[in-house]
Amino acid sequence: MQQPVRAYIGIGSNLDHPATQVRRAFAALNAIPACLCVAQSPLYRTAPVGGPPNQPDYINAVAALDTALAPEALLTALQAIETVQGRVRTAPWGPRTLDLDLLLYGEFTRADSWLTLPHPRLHQRAFVLYPLHDIAPTLTIPGRGQLSECLAQCPPLTMARLDSRN
Ligand code: ATP
Ligand code: CA
Ligand code: CA
Repeated sequence: MQQPVRAYIGIGSNLDHPATQVRRAFAALNAIPACLCVAQSPLYRTAPVGGPPNQPDYINAVAALDTALAPEALLTALQAIETVQGRVRTAPWGPRTLDLDLLLYGEFTRADSWLTLPHPRLHQRAFVLYPLHDIAPTLTIPGRGQLSECLAQCPPLTMARLDSRN
């Protein structure tokens, strides 16, 4: 088995009790074999970006995982959790019970349509950058520079941090 690698997972939901879906996802991530969830960001309520009009708001968060899985196996495990939590693929960026994006896998880079690392839109998305910064403020994004710099350049988004009771 390889040495653990620190990976970051973007979590989003806007259907069927989104905050509950996100909390279930944290538990499911920790239950993936050879993975340990080492940090969970706060939850954020965010306005939808792209996709069909009139979608409900999203709940977004980010988890840090120490994993001994290869990146391809980790993405497969993420997709299995999406399926268990009722993900149905409709329109691009359409409403969903659960979306799990593999944002970063250590400093590993790769570009093909099934798995691109870092996630190709990570650096442009406030709903990813804010929760990622909460748990990894000094992170560097391969090919994009300091996370804090990406955050400073990111268009502002209507979003609110939830407290732990929401
Ligand atoms: P976006 O990728 O813009 O956030 P999305 O999450 O709604 O959009 P999905 O329908 O969940 O898109 O995924 C589309 C495809 O993206 C998947 O089939 C998956 O193979 C591919 N993909 C490529 N790179 C990644 C990555 N880093 N993490 C997750 N999926 C990825
Ligand atoms: Ca996504
Ligand atoms: Ca996705």
